[in-house]
Amino acid sequence: MSGRLPETVHWDRLTEGGEILRGAMALRGMARLAGCLLDDEGDVDVELELGVDAQKVRYLRGHLRTTLNLVCQRCLQPLPYPLDIDICLGLLVSEDQMERLPEVYDPYVLDHRKAELRTIVEDELMLALPLIPTHDAAHCAIDAAYVATEVEAQPKDSGTRQPFAGLGALMKGKPG
Ligand SMILES: [Zn+2]
Repeated sequence: MSGRLPETVHWDRLTEGGEILRGAMALRGMARLAGCLLDDEGDVDVELELGVDAQKVRYLRGHLRTTLNLVCQRCLQPLPYPLDIDICLGLLVSEDQMERLPEVYDPYVLDHRKAELRTIVEDELMLALPLIPTHDAAHCAIDAAYVATEVEAQPKDSGTRQPFAGLGALMKGKPG
């Protein structure tokens, strides 16, 4: 995907026809995000529409897609983390406007009636980060041995999950 993305979103320049923003934005240089990453390789595929809707709400909506290189907090190994974020922002120039913003929009308050597009994208990526990134149990180096014994202990083809199925066996095994 290629294209030109504007650097800045200006409140006063948005139009009712809307404007399609499509392109790749490098993760490199997103300083706040970089603090959460193993490395800042790669791009974000940006596919957004910027405009003014029938209710005069200035909006930025569409998709952000990327894969972030995080670190698993259990095994400390690399954790590729694909993201496909739907965004639907109502752009505001002050927090007073939030009350009137239709519910479909998430509020985004512009600083001095404008914002760097990179900053908005970085903010949205930050919001989408997991609180504590970890591999799922089957793929985590730390849990691998534990998971192997668990799988062996389970009946092979139990179709439904029975979270307490093992409990009965444990209780029966208890003396007294
Ligand atoms: Zn892990």
